[in-house]
Amino acid sequence: DASIAGEFGRVMAWADEFRTLKVRTNADTPADAKKARELGAEGIGLCRTEHMFFDPERIAAFREMICSDTEEEREVALDKILPYQQSDFKALYEALEGCPVTIRFLDPPLHEFVPTEDADIEKLAKAKNKSVEEIKAICASLHEFNPMMGHRGCRLAVTYPSIAKMQTKAVIRAAIEVQKEHADWTVKPEIMIPLVCEVKELKYVKNIVVETADAEIAAAGVNLEYEVGTMIEIPRAALTADEIATEADFFCFGTNDLTQMTFGFSRDDAGKFLNAYYDKKIFESDPFAKLDQTGVGKLMETAIKLGKPVNPKLHVGICGEHGGDPSSVEFCHKIGLDYVSCSPFRVPIARLAAAQAAIAEKAAK
Ligand code: PEP
Ligand code: MG
Repeated sequence: DASIAGEFGRVMAWADEFRTLKVRTNADTPADAKKARELGAEGIGLCRTEHMFFDPERIAAFREMICSDTEEEREVALDKILPYQQSDFKALYEALEGCPVTIRFLDPPLHEFVPTEDADIEKLAKAKNKSVEEIKAICASLHEFNPMMGHRGCRLAVTYPSIAKMQTKAVIRAAIEVQKEHADWTVKPEIMIPLVCEVKELKYVKNIVVETADAEIAAAGVNLEYEVGTMIEIPRAALTADEIATEADFFCFGTNDLTQMTFGFSRDDAGKFLNAYYDKKIFESDPFAKLDQTGVGKLMETAIKLGKPVNPKLHVGICGEHGGDPSSVEFCHKIGLDYVSCSPFRVPIARLAAAQAAIAEKAAK
């Protein structure tokens, strides 16, 4: 009711006076983005694009892409998804009303994108003018025993540059449209490359992004600034952050994967033996719920210390689940992050936690 909204608004306004850490949201639908804005989000820190591919027409086009023989053919297949992606991104920019929006390029569970049903395989064979056996062989070649450590994130864009090309076109075209319709908004797309562990991977994908984006901007005859950054979610990325920072406008810590890979604990099996294991008190707590400050946190600090001197303009955030956990938010404040990004309903908690962290810091001086 209105009085609760009033009280809530007052507490939040008070928190905002103190905090220095920005609070963004993880959102990939306009409904989530709007909800987060209402709760005070100052941008989107993570838009996961993989959920946007499950619609039947889109998944069919993606499957045609993986069963194509040439890059040209792959581009033709993905061009079928381009208009959808363009309107997905436009709707998000509109929901955010000129606040920053970070679009993370496709980081799929590839095994979920590869067809297994006979009917889908037959349809694909027809579309690609191949035999059912040929399609099955391609699908079998993509099977992995450990998909989370496999063909995902930027690795997929390195294998299939057409994905990065299509998503870049969609991001830039949507931004140009929104810029035309809302001259008073700052539209500056932030393109985020996932699962980078080596600067050359980032450079490889970034080259595709820049070439495609600049061609789009020139063809439209407009001025549009954009940024290309990376997730830091593999320990090697944190440890080589001085190299990676030479190619990145921003870092965003993906602490879900970073925790998984630092501990070697599976994030997808968290409820299994791990709950009883944590009860033994060998570990302080569930590291997926509360940032492990001496391990994962140390990697984050290392990445910042290595990256910032190389690129002083580098801005840094976090978009793993920890971005909405109060003690993790406090840690993020202490190590100098610019923003945390969390699910919409965690935004108020993050705003409060960020204020408390700033107040505690002042009090300690
Ligand atoms: C992460 O790994 O922390 C992250 C935000 O990316 P995702 O959860 O989509 O892997
Ligand atoms: Mg991740």
